[in-house]
Amino acid sequence: MTTMERPLTDRAYHRVLATATRLAVEPVLGVRFVSRARWIEKWWQRPEEQREAWRAEALRSMLAYCSTKVPAFSELPANGDIDLTELAVIDKQMIIGEPDAYLSIDHERLPAVEKHTGGSTGDPWNYPLDRVAWAESYAIQIHRFEQLGVAYGDRRVTLGFPTSLGLQGMGAQKRLRLAAERTDVSLCGFEVDRETSLNRAIKASAMGASMWYGYASTIAAMASAALEARLSLPGPRLIVTMAEPLWPNWKDDIDAAFGSRVVEEYGCNDGGIMAHRCAAGLLHLADHQSVVEVLDDDGQPCPEGAEGDVVITNLHARHMPFLRYLVGDRGILGPRHCPCGQPGRTLAAVTGRSGDFVLLPDGTELSPVTFFNPFNEVDGVRRWQIVQSTTDAIIIRIDPRPEWNDSEGQLIREWVEDQTRHQLRVEITTDQPLEITSGGKHKIIVRRSP
Ligand SMILES: [Zn+2]
Repeated sequence: MTTMERPLTDRAYHRVLATATRLAVEPVLGVRFVSRARWIEKWWQRPEEQREAWRAEALRSMLAYCSTKVPAFSELPANGDIDLTELAVIDKQMIIGEPDAYLSIDHERLPAVEKHTGGSTGDPWNYPLDRVAWAESYAIQIHRFEQLGVAYGDRRVTLGFPTSLGLQGMGAQKRLRLAAERTDVSLCGFEVDRETSLNRAIKASAMGASMWYGYASTIAAMASAALEARLSLPGPRLIVTMAEPLWPNWKDDIDAAFGSRVVEEYGCNDGGIMAHRCAAGLLHLADHQSVVEVLDDDGQPCPEGAEGDVVITNLHARHMPFLRYLVGDRGILGPRHCPCGQPGRTLAAVTGRSGDFVLLPDGTELSPVTFFNPFNEVDGVRRWQIVQSTTDAIIIRIDPRPEWNDSEGQLIREWVEDQTRHQLRVEITTDQPLEITSGGKHKIIVRRSP
């Protein structure tokens, strides 16, 4: 639907919201996201050589900044004139081991957003994300969704985020922003069993929103529940899935159930990627946001089409810069120019977490993300894994840090017992080794037939 076809009240609301955000909200927050979305639109209209020159200068400026402001990078030339590939790759553990070395000496003057990551790898980490870098990611979404026919301020339903993080844990500022943006978070939650999913699909459909935004597994479960119930539930104009790979059979179900345009998002706050899959099947990176590399086991760049480790250099994060940062995802580099005609670099694929789940005796299936919260809140967990080999019990394996203690164990136990509705016996152990897949990847949930 074009802007012209939208109801007049909606168009008026968009204009008021965008103007109010630019004039009143952005100056107070000290970051520009609506304005930046407009800037991004114009940036992509520049000729390619201008965009590349802009990017080279942004990178040089970031490297120069790090050389004087960030202790871990003090060896870099002060003018930032160095080939990025000459820098060592850094990972999360290196930053955790020496956090002060990776912070800008000016970090207290640079606003940051507290972020959590590593839930999917069982390796939780709280870190400060520079607010300018956060705004860049958000602006990319605003711009991309507008290209896909959903304006800033169109009604949106959020699906699949943790209820506690989504609502109670949310600051007043964020609640206000979501209300102004007309984003509904009342259907958040991770249960992916048929009954919950069907109810969620019925309610979401009845809301008549322009867009659904949420976890791929959650929306896929809604779709298959609707199909199995033979219910015809009209979907929104646009469905954007995130947090997990959108497996092809999931996309087929969502297409069939809701008839909406479905777009997969791959985002990575630590580092800085906000990419969306196009009609030609490639993930379009934002060249003004970061430099994305895919490296083989020897640290050499993978050719197009070969799988390797995704490594990111953020062009905006100065509070705690990310230079050649290993995000822990495996990816495949796509062509430099996509056949769809949209400009910019691409990834062909990203390997994400598995679609595994914990099964309750009443048939409820809980996706791995159900369990992430408490592990993010405690200090004593390095990695964790849930093993289910009987229908009535699970074992939580903890790879503990020295900080691990009984009260952290109790907090985790209570959360897991609540989430599993007290239907499972929960045992926590710190002396069983964690299993990895045949491909060497950590698994959050290991299920075995009894
Ligand atoms: Zn494309």
